[in-house]
Amino acid sequence: MTKKYDYIIIGQGITGSALAWKLYYSNKKFLILDSENKNTASKAALGIYNPITGRRKALTWNVNELFENLERFYLNIEKEIGVKILFKKNIYRPINNNKDFNDWNSRMSNIKFQSIIKEIDEKKVITKKSGYIDVKKYLTHTRKYFKKKERYHRYKLDDKDIIIENNEIRLKGFQAKHIVMCIGIDQKKINLFNKIDINEVSGNSILTELNYSIKNIINNKISIVNTSKNIFHIGSSYNNGSDNIGHSKILDDARKIIKKKLIFKKSFFGIRSSSKDRRPIVGKHFQLKNLYIINGLGSKGISQAPYCSDKLFNYIERNKQIDKEININRFKT
Ligand SMILES: Cc1cc2nc3c(=O)[nH]c(=O)nc-3n(C[C@H](O)[C@H](O)[C@H](O)COP(=O)(O)OP(=O)(O)OC[C@H]3O[C@@H](n4cnc5c(N)ncnc54)[C@H](O)[C@@H]3O)c2cc1C
Repeated sequence: MTKKYDYIIIGQGITGSALAWKLYYSNKKFLILDSENKNTASKAALGIYNPITGRRKALTWNVNELFENLERFYLNIEKEIGVKILFKKNIYRPINNNKDFNDWNSRMSNIKFQSIIKEIDEKKVITKKSGYIDVKKYLTHTRKYFKKKERYHRYKLDDKDIIIENNEIRLKGFQAKHIVMCIGIDQKKINLFNKIDINEVSGNSILTELNYSIKNIINNKISIVNTSKNIFHIGSSYNNGSDNIGHSKILDDARKIIKKKLIFKKSFFGIRSSSKDRRPIVGKHFQLKNLYIINGLGSKGISQAPYCSDKLFNYIERNKQIDKEININRFKT
């Protein structure tokens, strides 16, 4: 007889993993299905969370809500899996010219920036409330943990496994009250949520070796993270579309910043999924009453996935409205 679950999560990247932990702590019966794709956005990610974002050095969208419980979320998982995944690190940005220095100084008059900027002088600015998640360990140990509890199954969802009856979706061989799609850019390959425009933003990151150690995360267009003895994870590139443009520019840029002998070890490639307004896409399918989605996390999966999982859960279980900015309903025509 097939087991009946409260939830089936399709996809165990950064998004599906966050939802799985939310359901686990809420005592829900769930099953994760993942096709174990080799090149995913999550597998290429540096795992950085940072309240200051992008080249404009603006505060990240919804910074207070997003960051309030962020570290606690990953620390709780650390305890559960018994493996360290969260590394709190400040971000070091070199100041390149006078304009840069003046821009940073003017931010000091904003109270929100005051709590983030730790140190500033003509040469550098150091910001806090940031760090990185070791995504590889996070995903591997989450999978192992739930596999042991028979809550994980390797499975590739295909259109032919989808049965639609009475405005409800069913997957051949599985029974669940709710099905949540967390498959990132591969949502484009499945014949569901076709009305939602998901854009591809491809990117690379690299692992390198360097006989040196760096305490902070360096950010100077690219980010450089010293993840273990002599090992550095460096990225990322952004390219609209799905092409793999390779890692050579990242390596050249890193060599210019570090000015030391960097040895290339490995390259990663993934495609981020992004919405037109660059906000996550969270909510229920327009016709099917038991089908949901969390997608479009762009370049901020680590900070946005726990928040979006929370919002979707409260919507399904407690009938709480999802904020307009991330609600799938903004795509209704
Ligand atoms: C180079 C690079 C660097 C980045 N660095 C950072 C960073 O430092 N910090 C940060 O916050 N974000 C970063 N990101 C963004 C981050 O990776 C994404 O926001 C996040 O990974 C999205 O996760 P996801 O789970 O939604 O999608 P994905 O990572 O694409 O995961 C989808 C999962 O679904 C599975 N799947 C796909 N199709 C099917 C199917 N048909 N059936 C079953 N399972 C399926 C896949 O196997 C995969 O496990 C980076 C991205 C890139 C490309």
